[in-house]
Amino acid sequence: MKMIFRIIFLSLLFSWVGVSQAEYKCFYGNLHAHTDYSDGVSTPDTAFAYARDVAQIHIQALTEHNNGGSFGGVSYSITPEHYQNLRLIADTMTAPGRFVALAGQEVGSIGSSGFGHINIWEAPGLWPYNNTDLLGCYSWILEQGYPAMYCHPDSSWNSNFNDLYYYQDYDRAMDLIEVINSSSLYEDAYFRALEKGWHVGASANQDNHCKYYNTYTGKIDTIFDWGNRVNYYGNIPLTGVWADTLTKPAILEALQARRTTAMEVSPADDRINLLLSVDDRYQGEHFIRQEGEVKITIEASAATSFKSLYLYTNGIPADTFNLIPASNQTVWKLDKSIGLGTVYYFVKALQTDGDRAWTSPIHIDGVSEKSPVVTWPTPIKNFARIVFTPLPGAISVKAVIYDLSGQKIKEITGSQPDQPIGWDGKDARGRQVMNGVYFIRLEQRSATETRTSLGKTMVSR
Ligand SMILES: [Zn+2]
Ligand SMILES: [Zn+2]
Repeated sequence: MKMIFRIIFLSLLFSWVGVSQAEYKCFYGNLHAHTDYSDGVSTPDTAFAYARDVAQIHIQALTEHNNGGSFGGVSYSITPEHYQNLRLIADTMTAPGRFVALAGQEVGSIGSSGFGHINIWEAPGLWPYNNTDLLGCYSWILEQGYPAMYCHPDSSWNSNFNDLYYYQDYDRAMDLIEVINSSSLYEDAYFRALEKGWHVGASANQDNHCKYYNTYTGKIDTIFDWGNRVNYYGNIPLTGVWADTLTKPAILEALQARRTTAMEVSPADDRINLLLSVDDRYQGEHFIRQEGEVKITIEASAATSFKSLYLYTNGIPADTFNLIPASNQTVWKLDKSIGLGTVYYFVKALQTDGDRAWTSPIHIDGVSEKSPVVTWPTPIKNFARIVFTPLPGAISVKAVIYDLSGQKIKEITGSQPDQPIGWDGKDARGRQVMNGVYFIRLEQRSATETRTSLGKTMVSR
């Protein structure tokens, strides 16, 4: 009852609310931009006000460079004093229900020895930068506990986050990846990050600096465009953030939950709502369930019509919905069967004018009563996730791996009690185990109960 009232109330309050059945609304944001606090122009106050009043978006982040960058011998990295000032300005400019201003930092380097650029929002302080230490950066993000994003993940650069190598221990550090921004399309990197195992959501941003080299005059032009920058494809990249309210805590929670849609918008009022749900779970979620049937619902609406929707299963566009005639509002429902192991779904939408949008993925780990502990993939080559049914209220989980003769091979403690455990196919001494069958004993503990479950897997290289 309360929920229904809230939905009706919010629908009346915000005319831009799209899909209304869901408990979340789509707020539009630009999560990557600069001012002269680093290498852009103008002030944070001007940038936030422009995004709010001229571009009329709901969320604007200023992610000033904190990576020791310099131009003409002069450093443009944000100073600790400026960063604290930026945080104060962002808090002052945030008006719940109207606008959320985020203070952020862009770390790393796209030079040959760097690891790429990462944005971190709202951390209390600056990373003591070291542009070559990717794992140090991941650990720092985990310690801070604030959302982070891979910026412009260009796979042709050798500084591409160690080619997006997947580290199980740092999985929770990274929340989003830019699928598209003002300079290029990075769809392949988004797909590859998911394929490698990262649980990252889709984002599209503008990386505004607001200064452009004019080839005719040889001078720098200034065009203020925080929130409405048009990219080379003639579109405005925006991130749709699905949250229950437009407040800073709700937006930060949504970013960490990866409840996002990346989109290109043209014309400017053609903002896209694209929401994926599996039963009552939304894009960005990762959960474990018994194998069996699920209902997938895809809701799409915008000002311009949609031509096609694609449901990707484990990175492959396995299902297509062509809208005949094209329509600017649709609901596509599918039934899917969840088997043992991990499956992930995401949606790509194509409008009649060529604009695209991508949802974040939903990851599902399928288990059964007969097989309460499984590995994905099976057989294992180099890396597997040990998937299990979580014990309610679990406080710890541990997997012990045995070979066929019953000899203990390795013991791995899970980093989170309700999440799969990674295994690199190595024994306790770091040697690759031999091909063959292995048993897994899983021990879960809650305050009141200890549960032991058994599973079996196979290594084949
Ligand atoms: Zn950058
Ligand atoms: Zn940037």
